[in-house]
Amino acid sequence: MTHQKQKLLDIILGNIDWGVIASDSNDDIRCVNPAFKELTGYAADEVLGKDPKILISGQQDVAIISSLRKSWNIEGSWPGKIEIRCKNGETCLFYLSIHTYSEQIEQPDNYVIMIRVVTENRGLDKDGKYQHDELTGLPDRHLFKDRLQQNLIISKRGDKPVAILMLGIDSFTTINDGLGHDYGDLLLKTVAMRLEKCFRGSDTVAHTEGDRFGMVLQMTASGDGVIVADKILNAIKQPFNIEGREVTITASIGISLSPTDDEDAGQLIKYAESAMYHAKKGGGGRYQFFSNDMNVKARKRIEIESRLRRAIEREQFILYYQPKVNAGTNQIVGMEALMRWQDPENGLISPTVFIPVAEETGLIEQIGLWGLRESCRQNIEWQNKGLHPVCVSVNVSGRQFFSPDFVDMVKAALEDSGLSSQYLELEITESLLMDKTGENIKKLEQIRDLGCHISVDDFGTGYSSLSYLTNFPITTLKIDRAFIKDIGTSQDTSEVARAIIGLSQGLKLEVIAEGAETLKHIDFLRRYGCNTVQGFFYSRPLPAEEFEQLLKVLFIKQ
Ligand code: C2E
Ligand code: MG
Ligand code: MG
Repeated sequence: MTHQKQKLLDIILGNIDWGVIASDSNDDIRCVNPAFKELTGYAADEVLGKDPKILISGQQDVAIISSLRKSWNIEGSWPGKIEIRCKNGETCLFYLSIHTYSEQIEQPDNYVIMIRVVTENRGLDKDGKYQHDELTGLPDRHLFKDRLQQNLIISKRGDKPVAILMLGIDSFTTINDGLGHDYGDLLLKTVAMRLEKCFRGSDTVAHTEGDRFGMVLQMTASGDGVIVADKILNAIKQPFNIEGREVTITASIGISLSPTDDEDAGQLIKYAESAMYHAKKGGGGRYQFFSNDMNVKARKRIEIESRLRRAIEREQFILYYQPKVNAGTNQIVGMEALMRWQDPENGLISPTVFIPVAEETGLIEQIGLWGLRESCRQNIEWQNKGLHPVCVSVNVSGRQFFSPDFVDMVKAALEDSGLSSQYLELEITESLLMDKTGENIKKLEQIRDLGCHISVDDFGTGYSSLSYLTNFPITTLKIDRAFIKDIGTSQDTSEVARAIIGLSQGLKLEVIAEGAETLKHIDFLRRYGCNTVQGFFYSRPLPAEEFEQLLKVLFIKQ
């Protein structure tokens, strides 16, 4: 290479903000540029002669690595996103572009890797104004407001709420003064990386000023704001190891919600900031909603969560059983296991209170597994006592179903109890059937192959696409209570019940109605061909001992 060309190359490498790593065919790093140190924290002499693989995070998705290998082998290059482990131990998502080249024909391949932090639309906006903060690479305050405005427009169209989170690091000035501004800057950079990991690609994380970060979250469920705030506070609480010095910090988060609090971006940011100050005043290391109403709800949720954890340890859950009855003969043909929480302080707590919190926090996996095993155990106990064998239906929440070993858990519950699979039914919700990847179908097929029944609970309240009904191996539709309760009073809702009965007959599925409370309901259901019914008309859910008495008689007296 001519001297001129080398000089030009040095100028470019010294000034671009992409990190560059040049390696030879033995996988030895030959040189890196200054931006590489900026991005990863590694000085040149710490990586020269080493294999670039040291940068790949251990948590990296294997599919990405195999795609990289394949495309690199065939095409000599690969562009994509990859997790890199920085010197301080943090992993961060980078754009990575890898290219093979030879210095001379017939010589083995060297390669060059280029990296930069993933941020969308990085660079200047149309007016030439810099919209990304230089330190962290995140959107700045202007772009944050812009993104928020866009999100508000989109959310209005889709009728989805948006949460605005403003975060401030507690006592940041103490760290900055005590450990120096350079240290403070590195800390902010690392905080930015951790924050990005708490969000999906479609959300916005911005560095609005100093020790402040702003985040916009498109919510899919009402508890999303709390879940993310918890996740962030937890991520920030973990010790930071920067340049060999460990610090532990906390942060305060203020949350405002659109449309509940306001629909104007500026106002929402102000509200979230004001809530953040409140959180700081309250001692820091916590989040606070702008609206008091939300604070009360959030506090209640936290309280239930910690009590639920205790309830698991102390085994305070019990199952009630409600009969499913043949409306023609009044014979019990099945039973649904319904969970209750026996709280020593507050008595019997309804699943409508604790199941949603258990789902949000992931505790449902443990609680649900207990319910599944206990239902199988109880059912075989009754069969062993010589009572008429009936199928037990167990509610399965989405999160429980998505657990990778769910099928194994069902298998184990059957094997450990000795219950025959024909006496176990799983009640799932319509939303599980919306998955287009086929993963859920596979799982359900495995469950059906075990010999269990699969019923779609609360049918009619979920999504309207019915095409899935033929794709999934389901056995029963369970008409939601909402369509039964108005039979005799609302023509429209009872028409829905009728239509579902017709649909199940057409698809050769079984049908059951839940929530039948009156003789009018029963007569209607019988008339239109729904012979299996569950509801207060026959019996409320009962504790196991009382249900056992009912099972002994088998026929429900009117
Ligand atoms: P679900 O699976 O749709 O259960 C039926 C609910 O309707 C039960 O409420 C039952 O008591 C109630 N019900 C039955 N007949 C009537 C009636 O005639 N009138 C009225 N008004 N209500 C009736 P419950 O026991 O409070 O359970 C509520 C929900 O909690 C269940 O709805 C289910 O989604 C969930 N759940 C209960 N146990 C479990 C569990 O072990 N795991 C999971 N994941 N969810 C559970
Ligand atoms: Mg159910
Ligand atoms: Mg239901």
